[in-house]
Amino acid sequence: MHTKPGSRHKLLALFGGTFDPIHYGHLRPVEALAQEIGLERVTLLPNHVPPHRPQPEANAQQRLAMVQIAIAEHPLFTVDDRELHRITPSYTIDTLEELRQQHGADTRLAFIIGQDSLLSLHKWHRWQDLLNYCHLLVLARPGYQQQMETVVLQHWLEQHQVRRPVELHRQSAGYIYLANTPLWEISATEIRQRHQQGISCDDLLPRSVQRYIELQGLYR
Ligand code: ATP
Repeated sequence: MHTKPGSRHKLLALFGGTFDPIHYGHLRPVEALAQEIGLERVTLLPNHVPPHRPQPEANAQQRLAMVQIAIAEHPLFTVDDRELHRITPSYTIDTLEELRQQHGADTRLAFIIGQDSLLSLHKWHRWQDLLNYCHLLVLARPGYQQQMETVVLQHWLEQHQVRRPVELHRQSAGYIYLANTPLWEISATEIRQRHQQGISCDDLLPRSVQRYIELQGLYR
C-alpha cells in the first residue's frame, strides 16, 4: 500500500451485484456518490452466483444484458463481465486480487456496497482481506441500521472509517467511506414481486430495462 500525502489519484471504482434486475436503487445512489467524491467512472460487476446458492430468476446473459441496456448512453458507467465467465464459484476477493494484479499496487481501487452489504460483510469469503485490496464505499440504504452487529465489527468499522473523500485518493486501499447519498427505497426483490403481481414498476428502473423484461418474459 502506498501513501503519497498531498497527491490526488484517480479512483477506480467497482460496483458488484446480482442485478436481477438492475434498478434505480443501484444507479441513482452511485451517481450521487460519484458527485460526492469525484468519480469519473464506475465499473459494474455482475456476480456469478454459485450453484449451491439460491439462483437469480434471470440467467447470467439476461442480467448482463439488463446492465448493458441500463448504462447505454450513460458515460459514468461501464460493465466488466469477468465473473460471469467463471466456471467455478467466484468470490469478490478473487476478483479484487485479479484487478490489483492488473492495475498495480499504486492504483486507488474502491469497491461500492450498500449499507445492507456492509452489515453482512463478515459473512463474505476472506472479508478481513478486502481492505488490503480496496477501499469500501458504502451507499446509504433505507431500512438498515447504522450500527454494526457486534462491538467488534463496529470497532473494525471505526478503525478504518474516513470522513473526508480526499483521504481515499491518498492511499491505494484500506479505508471505509460511508457516503451521504440520498435514500432510494428500491430492491430487486420488490421489482420481481411487483412484476409477478402485474403492478407497475415505473420510476423503479429504466424503461428500456422494463421493455427487455417484458420481451424476455422475465419475473412472471
Ligand atoms: P435483491 O432484492 O434481489 O436482494 P438488491 O436490490 O439488493 O437485490 P443486488 O444486486 O443484490 O440488489 O445489490 C447489489 C449492491 O447494491 C449491494 O451492495 C446492495 O447493498 C446495493 N443496493 C441495492 N439496492 C440498493 C438501494 N436501494 N440503495 C443502496 N444500495 C443498494
